[in-house]
Amino acid sequence: MPERIYVAVAWPYANGPLHLGHIAGCYLSADIFARYHRMKGNDVLMVSGSDTHGTPITIRADQEGTSPAAVVERYHAMFLESWEQLGISFDLFTSTQTENHQKVVHDVFTSLHDKGYIYTDNMLLAYCAQCDRYLPDRYVEGICPHCQNTRARGDQCDACGRTLDPQDLVEPRCSICSSTPEFRESEHFFLKLSAFEKPLLEWVEKQTHWRNNVLNFTRRFLQDGLKDRAITRDLSWGVPLPLDGYESKRIYVWFEAVIGYLSAAVEWSEKNGSGSWEDFWKDPNTKSYYFIGKDNIPFHSIIWPAMLMAYGNDLNLPYDVPANEFLSLENQKFSTSQNWAVWVPDYLERYDPDPLRYLLSINMPESGDSDFSWSEFVRRNNEELVATYGNLVNRVLSFTYRNFDGKVPGVKSLDEVDQGLLLKAREAMDSVDESLYNCRFKAAITQAFGLAQDANRYLDTKAPWKTIKEDRELAGSSLTVAMQAINCLKTILYPFMPFSSQKVHEFLGFDGPIEAGAWDFDTIVGGIQAGANLRQPSTLYTKLDPEIVEEEVKKLGTGTPSE
Ligand SMILES: [Zn+2]
Ligand SMILES: [Zn+2]
Repeated sequence: MPERIYVAVAWPYANGPLHLGHIAGCYLSADIFARYHRMKGNDVLMVSGSDTHGTPITIRADQEGTSPAAVVERYHAMFLESWEQLGISFDLFTSTQTENHQKVVHDVFTSLHDKGYIYTDNMLLAYCAQCDRYLPDRYVEGICPHCQNTRARGDQCDACGRTLDPQDLVEPRCSICSSTPEFRESEHFFLKLSAFEKPLLEWVEKQTHWRNNVLNFTRRFLQDGLKDRAITRDLSWGVPLPLDGYESKRIYVWFEAVIGYLSAAVEWSEKNGSGSWEDFWKDPNTKSYYFIGKDNIPFHSIIWPAMLMAYGNDLNLPYDVPANEFLSLENQKFSTSQNWAVWVPDYLERYDPDPLRYLLSINMPESGDSDFSWSEFVRRNNEELVATYGNLVNRVLSFTYRNFDGKVPGVKSLDEVDQGLLLKAREAMDSVDESLYNCRFKAAITQAFGLAQDANRYLDTKAPWKTIKEDRELAGSSLTVAMQAINCLKTILYPFMPFSSQKVHEFLGFDGPIEAGAWDFDTIVGGIQAGANLRQPSTLYTKLDPEIVEEEVKKLGTGTPSE
């Protein structure tokens, strides 16, 4: 029976282009996971969208003298292009600006309001007289009352991970102009999170399959106690309230953006006759995975589950929240304002997507922070992709194509060495399968590459370019066994490097998309049949000049962020 897998991915703010830190944080892992499950024949729905209502967007619009809608439109288009070129295979990448999203948000808001989980109260909001505006929480900075971090924001302290209210901050200041904001009282709507502290604690204790960082963080967060949180603001850009008399207020972005996980499925369902959103949300056998960066954990392991519990209607709670830690760049934190970043559109202008996907996979900040450096990028590309895997594919396929009329020679009889390689291939398929199923991406790609090394050793032992002179049939047999291993490799590497795997698929003579093939050892080995036509192979990966390292590093921290 195929499994049903919901892949929910963090919604990026449409106020700037994506950089490698975003990709390593959640988009690549989500895509690997979705591709893997599709290949296994499972029913996958992978969704996300542009978060279009955050105040970073209105601030950006102010800076550029344009409208928030124009900012959103530009970056949403840029995101779509990046996904396409990088191979991030969303079934739907929508935005929070759709009518459908507003409808679903209103339904959730009204339902929670009717049940008493949303109530009104007066609250203090930061107002900057200098800027003449109410300040969104994240634009109030100050000292964290818990850990004394001097750069805590009014929504969260990045040093200790606690969520905050702006008035909790010691010595608050406006992050736009640095003056001290005043706090003005105004009526707002609150989400009764406190009512869910106990049910959440009980639920979280059952999630023993979560990553340790996520589980521990969530436990600590709940043990600190859950406070009710305001979910409206005095703003003009955002989703309006579904109630009369509150025209000057909008639903606060964190409350409506997480509802995007639900509204996106509804939108997908309306656009696709074949599937219903309810299969992914109401069938208790469906597993939903939320791919996010670690700064987003509480919203997905606590607040969104609490909202779902409050809403009821038998909607599935998250099954797993495989949050990644942070990626640094040349051992420094990514910084948009200082342009210490590698922007995805810039990268894709110069290099292929698969080498980046490979490096970010093998170096994924999965259980701890990791670093991207250009020297490692070049080294791994040249030594591992070009010299190990690319060379294997090239040696076997070019030699066979040239010497056996572009056809699979076929297996004569299997000796111990042949059987040894096929056994390794079977084991690699099993172990990569298990690792990917459990969201262990680094382990999976390491195991897959182990098979490439085994196949290279096999080839050195068998040396078909020598044996062909005395025993053509034996040489052909060794090459066929090597091709069977390569057919396994293209399969287990596909979730990580879809573009080059599709190429190998075609070199081996197959038509159509690689994803249609099953993740089954016997089928894959049996797919390499004597007499079948091969295609003339071309270069799989390009060797990079080590000089680009200096060139690329020199660009960091200079110029302006990519547009
Ligand atoms: Zn703190
Ligand atoms: Zn100000």
